[in-house]
Amino acid sequence: MLVCKSKSPRREKLGGPGESVRVRWIRCSAVVRLPPPAMDPEGLELERERHVLFLEMMMERLPSDFETQEINHLTLAYFAISGLGILGALDRVDKDQIASWVLSFQAQPRTMSDLDNGQFYGFHGSRTSQFTIDDSEVSSHNCSHLASTYCALAILNMIGYNLSNINSEAILISMRNLQQPDGSFMPIHFGAEKDLRFVYCAAAICFMLNNWTGMDKEKAKEYILHCQSYDGGFGLVPGSESHGGATYCAVAALQLMGFINADISSKPAKSVVVDVPLLVDWSLQRQAADGGFQGRANKPSDTCYAFWVGGVLKILGFYHFLNKGALRRFLLSCQSKYGGFTKFPENMLPDLYHSYYSFAALSLMEEEGLKPLCVELGITAINDNGI
Ligand SMILES: [Zn+2]
Repeated sequence: MLVCKSKSPRREKLGGPGESVRVRWIRCSAVVRLPPPAMDPEGLELERERHVLFLEMMMERLPSDFETQEINHLTLAYFAISGLGILGALDRVDKDQIASWVLSFQAQPRTMSDLDNGQFYGFHGSRTSQFTIDDSEVSSHNCSHLASTYCALAILNMIGYNLSNINSEAILISMRNLQQPDGSFMPIHFGAEKDLRFVYCAAAICFMLNNWTGMDKEKAKEYILHCQSYDGGFGLVPGSESHGGATYCAVAALQLMGFINADISSKPAKSVVVDVPLLVDWSLQRQAADGGFQGRANKPSDTCYAFWVGGVLKILGFYHFLNKGALRRFLLSCQSKYGGFTKFPENMLPDLYHSYYSFAALSLMEEEGLKPLCVELGITAINDNGI
């Protein structure tokens, strides 16, 4: 879902037929008529208004290079709307219009007896995954997905929609069909991978709906614990290499499920379900000499891991051990003159994913003018309506 998995991290995605992406971005930026930002990273400030305009532009029309991400339309909306939330600019969006749009993606069972048919009745990722239900082929046409459902509920939560108005019973009862005997989740009811990302989504969905009937928490906990590696980090599946995104999913899910507490740093090690000293050591070692965080050992620093790994340290109560000044300088060196953030300092173009997690990382370090995060949910302060 939200984890960065690029195999060629330093390759800038440019081009396509006709003019380059860069030219189109420059044209878009010309429309908003902003002065050029300061060029010295040491002197850079967070250019809040430029970022708000960038996200508004993304809400209005995505560059054509996002075409391949059409199936993740709801996730892209989550990045833009959540970003505006962190920037304190949710007054720029039409909340009723957004709520109607998001709600239109929920897969609805024809009758409650459909909830026993093995399908998942969550939210679709985009309009193209919604097909007319056909009596003969219904099982292949419901493509609702755990990650899209997490994004839908997160958006609704942020804009103040009362979650008790949605058909949460359909989501939760059918979500049990996705949990595997080993405690993991697959994200869709047929033919999909299963790993920690979807355990996290399931936990966040139950938390936001304030109802844990959608999963077996003990089984999920056992699966998560099996994913902790010898070096203290977590891999996406048992036995795999430790990874910043997977480690966030593990720790945040355990926090949401109530298996670790906010004051874990003051607890004796034996009272905690995971090996905290090793986990904290692994997490702190992900901060590289340039101040940024890497997702795995021997990889370059990448803006998104400032949130994934920084979030782990924040949840565990060890955030004060990282070098905040160096991390801030790294993040601001990735601030794009077009608004938004890039993945690496040398990239020219921002993307929604790295922009959002840069805003989130700066919120963790209490950057002036940014709203605080609910770290384990990955969104701004929790809405009181319905959760
Ligand atoms: Zn990344």
